[in-house]
Amino acid sequence: MTDILINTPHIAFVYGISPTLLIIMVATALASWIVSSTLKRRFNEYSQIPIQFTGAQIAETMLRENGITDVKVIHTPGKLTDHYDPTKKTVNLSEGVYAMNSIAAAAVAAHECGHAIQHAKSYAWLTMRSKMVPAVQFAGKTLNIFLIASIFGASFFNTPAFLYIWVTLFAVTTLFAFVTLPVEFDASRRALVWLEGSRVSSSMDHDKAKNALFWAAMTYVVAAIGSLATLLYYVSMLFGRRD
Ligand SMILES: [Zn+2]
Repeated sequence: MTDILINTPHIAFVYGISPTLLIIMVATALASWIVSSTLKRRFNEYSQIPIQFTGAQIAETMLRENGITDVKVIHTPGKLTDHYDPTKKTVNLSEGVYAMNSIAAAAVAAHECGHAIQHAKSYAWLTMRSKMVPAVQFAGKTLNIFLIASIFGASFFNTPAFLYIWVTLFAVTTLFAFVTLPVEFDASRRALVWLEGSRVSSSMDHDKAKNALFWAAMTYVVAAIGSLATLLYYVSMLFGRRD
């Protein structure tokens, strides 16, 4: 479920914290706390409801039934660290998923296979997202360097030119957060369609699987909205300075 997480530095260090930025930061932090704690609660709850097959068995069956033979299902350490690796073509399932036979494990395993299917079918949003990764990594690193440099008080950071660069780099990370949304929703949609038509989950409560995947997707929605709100704030600063 986890993809690249961008540590977003804040320009507040350069210009000082304004009440608006403070509200955005607090609201985003609060929303993401509510969503992630709900996700954890639901995941733990649905991990207690057993089904016939383990996460790994679900994943292997789903891949096979979708005609995918070159993707491996492997075990990865940690909790909720499940992800699909397009470079190695592996579905990485975490401790609570790989060898566990629960609704939560089935939902997560099927979701990650959804990404593998997207990759096999060159799903447009996934392709676009993958192409953005180098630019997003560059933007993230540069923003961090700027942040550190600004603490040491480089005078460049109080110029409008700097604000333009900052907004452009930040916009790249915001765009990435939004391109991630259709990729995540589509992977969950593929997961649920397959689970509902599948023999392996005929006895499963599909509404619970749907609910777990809904809260997982909400973490990406909150991140994207938080990023957009921050970006709009920076843009308003830009226009405020030009007046
Ligand atoms: Zn995903």
